[in-house]
Order: sequence, then C-alpha cells, then structure tokens
Amino acid sequence: MAEIVKAAEAAVKTAGTKAKKPVKKAGGMKKPDPAAVIPEPRRKICFVGSECFPFIKTGGLGDVMYALPRALIRQNCDVRVIMPRYECIPEKFQRQMKFLGEFNMDLCADGREFYVGILESELDGIVYYFIDNQEFFSWGNPYTDLVKDIPKYCYFDKAVLAVLNYLEWIPDIIHCHDWQTGLVPVYLRTLFAGTPVGSAKSIITIHNLRFQGIYNVPTIQYWSGLPGYAFDYTTLKQGYEDASMFKGGLAYANLITTVSETYAEEIQTPFYGDGLDSHLRHHSGKLHGIVNGIDVEIWNPRTDSCLKTNYSYRTVLKKKREDKLALQKRLGLEENEDKFVIGLVSRLTDQKGLDLVNAVLAEFLDGNTQFVVLGTGEARYEDSFRGWASAHPESVSATIAYADDLSHQIYAGADAFLVPSLFEPCGLTQLIAMHYGTVPIVRETGGLKDTVMPYNEFTDEGNGFTFDRYEAGLLLDAVIRAKTVYFTERDRWNEIVVRDMKKDVSWENSARQYHDLYLQLT
Ligand code: ADP
Repeated sequence: MAEIVKAAEAAVKTAGTKAKKPVKKAGGMKKPDPAAVIPEPRRKICFVGSECFPFIKTGGLGDVMYALPRALIRQNCDVRVIMPRYECIPEKFQRQMKFLGEFNMDLCADGREFYVGILESELDGIVYYFIDNQEFFSWGNPYTDLVKDIPKYCYFDKAVLAVLNYLEWIPDIIHCHDWQTGLVPVYLRTLFAGTPVGSAKSIITIHNLRFQGIYNVPTIQYWSGLPGYAFDYTTLKQGYEDASMFKGGLAYANLITTVSETYAEEIQTPFYGDGLDSHLRHHSGKLHGIVNGIDVEIWNPRTDSCLKTNYSYRTVLKKKREDKLALQKRLGLEENEDKFVIGLVSRLTDQKGLDLVNAVLAEFLDGNTQFVVLGTGEARYEDSFRGWASAHPESVSATIAYADDLSHQIYAGADAFLVPSLFEPCGLTQLIAMHYGTVPIVRETGGLKDTVMPYNEFTDEGNGFTFDRYEAGLLLDAVIRAKTVYFTERDRWNEIVVRDMKKDVSWENSARQYHDLYLQLT
C-alpha cells in the first residue's frame, strides 16, 4: 500500500512542476475531422511500443506502430504514440523533437530514482511522445540483451504512465505492443490504480510470443518495484524461479489481441504457445485475432520512388519486367526477363523457415531460376546464403544488410516471394509482395494461412502457392508448382498477379475491428 501511495504521489507531484504543460487539442490533426461523419464520441488511444517507423524499425512491429494509428484516426480516434527516445533515432527526427518537461521517477524496489525527459514530435497528424533517459536508451540498437533490456523496459513501462499523468492526457485505452510493454497493464492496475491514469483500460497485442522478457523474479521485482502479489503463477511468475513480463501484461490487460485469427488459435497449443499456452487458454475469453494490414501509401507500386518503373494492376503485366531487369542489374545477376526470380526479405532467424530453404535451394537452381535474399540475423544463415551466392553468382544474390530501398526493389522485381516460416504471427512481407504483384509461396501457418489463399488450378482462384507441414520436400513441391504455372500457363500466372494486386491488404478493415474493440471496452 505504501508503494501505491508513493507512486501516486510521485505521479501527482511531478504533474505541473518544472515544465510548461502542453495543451493539446484532440490529436492536433491537420486532416479533415472524420467526427463530422461518425457520431460516437472520439476515443483517446495511447499506443505504447518499443519501435515505430520511421523513427526506428527492426521488423513488423515498427510497421504496425506506424500504420495502425494512421488508420485509426480515420476511425474517429485520437491516437498518440509513446516510445523511447533512442539515441539511434536518425538525427533529422531528433532535431524535430520539442522538449515538454522532465521529472524524477522512483523505479526500483529500494526507491532508486531515474530521470524522465519528455519530448514531442508530430508527423502527419499523429503526436509522438518520446521518453528520454540516456542511461537506458543510448545503445546502438533498441534491443541489446536481457541484462540491459529488462531494466530498460521496466523503466519505460512505468515512465509511460507517469508521463501520461504529468501531461494530464488521460487516454480511454492504453494499447500496448509486445513484451517490452508488458508491465504497463500491471502498473496500471497496481501502483497507478489510484492515480488519474488509473481510469484507463488496457489492451496488449501479441506480435510475437517467442520473445517474452523472461528473467529471474528477484531481478524483475527489484527493477520494477512491483508488489510481491504481482509475482504469483497467475500473473508474472513463470516456471520455478522466473518472471515473464509478457505473461504479466496478458494477465492484467483488459483485452488481448494478436495479429491473426490462426495465430490466436495456435498460441493456445503447446507447440506455438512458448510456455504460455495454458495461460492463454485461461484468458481465451478476452483474446481476439485481428490480421495486420500494410500502409498502402508507403507500399504503393504506382508511386514508390525506389522503383525503376512504377506500375498499377492495369500496367503490371507490361511494366513489372523493367523492375525485374533493374533488380538483376543492381545485384549482378544475369539480366534476363525470362528467368523466374524468387525473392526473400526477412530477419534471418530459425522462425523464418530458412532451414527448409537451405535444404532445397540447390534444387531451385535449374538454370531458369534466380534467388534473391535480403536480411540480417543469425550468423549460420548469413553465412550459408553468402556461400550460395558465391557458388552461384549468376543466379543467387545474398545481401546481408538492412536496406529499405532494396527491399522495395525486391518486392517489385521478383516474380515470387518466399515465406516458409516455422511460425508466423501475421507476416507483412507476403502482404507487401501481393500488393506489388509478386506471388507468395508460403507455409500455412498463422497470418500466412489467413492472408494467402492457395491457388486452385481447377477453379482458378487463389493468391499464391502454399504447403502445410514444416518439411523441405513440401516447400520444394510448392516452388515447383509455382514454376510450372509460370513457365507453362503464363495467362493463369498473370491472372494471379493481377488478383493479388487488387486484393485489399490495407489497414481499413482491421482498424475498424480494433475500433469496435475500443468501443466495447469503453
Ligand atoms: P517480423 O516482424 O517477424 O520481422 P514481418 O513480415 O512482420 O516480420 O515484417 C518484416 C518487415 O521488416 C517488413 O516490412 C520487411 O520488408 C522488413 N525487413 C525485414 N528484413 C529487412 C531487411 N534486411 N531490409 C529491409 N527491410 C527488412
């Protein structure tokens, strides 16, 4: 109880002290106010996450943190985003940040205090708040290792709520994303329950259950300063002596969402549940699957400035080949539009099915096929792809780097796109590929299953080529089926290309479902 009072006092004490308070009009938006057409009261939604494009992105989470708020303002929501102010955010964004205020916050079990700085930036009608503390956020990457990441995100999660109290902007819903924000719902219902922000509801979205922020109980208890009762088996405790920050968030949040319906089912089973399947079955009543979309302004082959030639679904069959030739040229592959080019853009980790690719890549290379990979990650995959490229320089290209412009060129220049994942909560790359008229070849798991309808040669329906069990032979079979249609039934292939480009992969439909959940909760 003493801890609750202390945190409440800290939050109230800091409000209105050193800095001038920002007075924000709802959302500070420049765009036409959609409230004119949608009558419900506008909900205030605070997005909390550890990365957000264009400031910092390491994977799909960064894309979602960027695109979903944009789609939600079109659903009459006032969305603001809170994230860490990492030193590695590019200088051009750092320069645009405005200082809003600062205070000291008690964090650890022994009352150790830390500085909290608040900066603000506005981009395309969305307000972003950045939490500043050089002790935690001055590493080269957002994520380092758990020894550093556990204290970092304990600090961040508590600072988020203290900042909201400080700014006197009390959202209806705090929407948290992944394990790094797992303690926000826990703090909200414990140490901050009696403070102004305590009236907010919370939602936590699982983008990837593989990463949970698991560490021993004493360390998390010390850094979070959370009371002992938050560390029992129904809340944070995991196994004999560990605590899982994600597990705590799932227990305390009012609702849980994940990024596809199939993944929502899968994570309730031991194979996909990463130790939390029974916890998720227990909370299944508040678990919803909503599939991700992509930002169709950023990912738009008609306007994409990274491409040699822009195209739409009307012109794709004439123009896409120019992007293929440009890609082959850039990567030093044989420039030949008759080759079947397979692309892969991915983090290079075991999640992504790369063992299957390595097992059958030799058999892809029949003289008519080229393989292009872009990614970074585990050394074993980086090395194996480098090896393939040096052994077959005319038909395999491996770029071991993070390169946004090249990724756009691969989505446009390849004929097919490979996502053979072991598990895939949603997956954005297959959505982007389809939007660029590049036919996906995917394993039927998670969001891949929900977004890529298998091609049916009898009814001429479907968006791509799929396989079910995690077996290299089945991946090879799917690639051969795709190649057979490409080389022997080009009209049918072209129909798939156009169908994929016309498919709605935008955020609109999913944003509506999130909006419905917000209304349901408030
Ligand atoms: P995950 O979040 O598991 O990494 P997703 O498919 O959800 O996978 O999202 C991956 C996102 O990161 C896509 O936008 C993809 O284009 C991008 N990406 C992944 N690796 C690279 C890379 N090496 N260079 C550029 N973009 C990349």
